[in-house]
Amino acid sequence: MPYDASRPVLASYDADPYNATTRPPRRAVFVSSPDLWRAGFGGKHPLKPERLARTVALLTAYGALDAPNVEVITPRVASDEELARFHTLDYIDAVRRLSTGDDHVSAYRYGFGPGDNPAFRGMFEAAGLKAGGGIQSAERLLAGDCDVAFNFSGGLHHAAPSRASGFCIFNDAAVAIAYLVSEGRRVAYVDIDAHHGDGVQNAFYDTDQVLTISLHQDGRTLFPGTGFVEETGSGPGEGYSVNVPLAPNTDDPTYLWAFREIVPPLVRRYAPDVLVTQLGVDTHFRDPLTHMALTTEGHAALYTVFSELTMRGPLPAIPWLACGGGGYNLDVVPRSWALAFGVMSGQSFPDALPEAYRAAYGGIWLHDHEGPALDRATRTEARRRAEEVVSAVRSVMDL
Ligand SMILES: [Zn+2]
Repeated sequence: MPYDASRPVLASYDADPYNATTRPPRRAVFVSSPDLWRAGFGGKHPLKPERLARTVALLTAYGALDAPNVEVITPRVASDEELARFHTLDYIDAVRRLSTGDDHVSAYRYGFGPGDNPAFRGMFEAAGLKAGGGIQSAERLLAGDCDVAFNFSGGLHHAAPSRASGFCIFNDAAVAIAYLVSEGRRVAYVDIDAHHGDGVQNAFYDTDQVLTISLHQDGRTLFPGTGFVEETGSGPGEGYSVNVPLAPNTDDPTYLWAFREIVPPLVRRYAPDVLVTQLGVDTHFRDPLTHMALTTEGHAALYTVFSELTMRGPLPAIPWLACGGGGYNLDVVPRSWALAFGVMSGQSFPDALPEAYRAAYGGIWLHDHEGPALDRATRTEARRRAEEVVSAVRSVMDL
């Protein structure tokens, strides 16, 4: 079946979408500062700080950050004690020293070097702010100061306790979740980045205080090469680690079907105190690093499901901390994350991109007006493989 951009994905997948007319808009925190995008890996590295600047420019041009229910907060650098809830003190010290150009530290030993994770001056502050923003978001949610928080510069889900990995220095999501757990909260973490959320999964692999669910491109075809159905947790954590590896070329309908089969039932059954989502947008069909085939409409439908999950009908809402994540097409990332923040804060934006944004960065529409050019056999094969995986996950998770 040829892709039909006129077919509303939202309408076909969401019988009961979040309806802003029936509830007051949620109090939303957005964590932002130009300091987040001052320094980066540089050169031709795909993780360009400009993606953050563009996202804020788009939200600003739409007036989204001026809404009465929105508060923009400035991140602070996470303290060593906060980072040490997940990272080793040795690693924190090494990042700090490498960040100042200290060449007595072995960069390789800590995962830095040419390629994915080149050390750069100022990286302690750049990464520390993203982790600090996650902690601040979690603090605000627990204090009841807001209902949702978007730490859009975070979602750096590959970082390990003592190693940088996959463009990620400090694992802001793991640090924020560890803080929430230390405050006695049970957390569901759902990761929709194209890459497996290995760092966060590993952080909580042996505990039932955190349910991790990652949907991603099959690890046999993409970094980091993990995230298979059989990775289900260990010890008390057995059954609290869930992986949905999907075939390359998985499109909106198949991805949304798999997501709906797994995520809402598991999250509802777990009944978390807080939902943390990693909203990597590198599943987009135009992303240069991956081979998934979603559109911004598919992304918006996923954001809407998260929104519904955190509403819980007449029950008190579940605090929702959203992190950013991957996404390497500079035209796609701002649009998809603007849609995400719109869903979170109950705002919708005109499809025509604001003139100020267009003048600076180009583009015409907020939503995709075209989809991936995939033939029927390719879509069908991805669907067949998704059905196998979903069946396996449902069986393993006793769904
Ligand atoms: Zn990714």
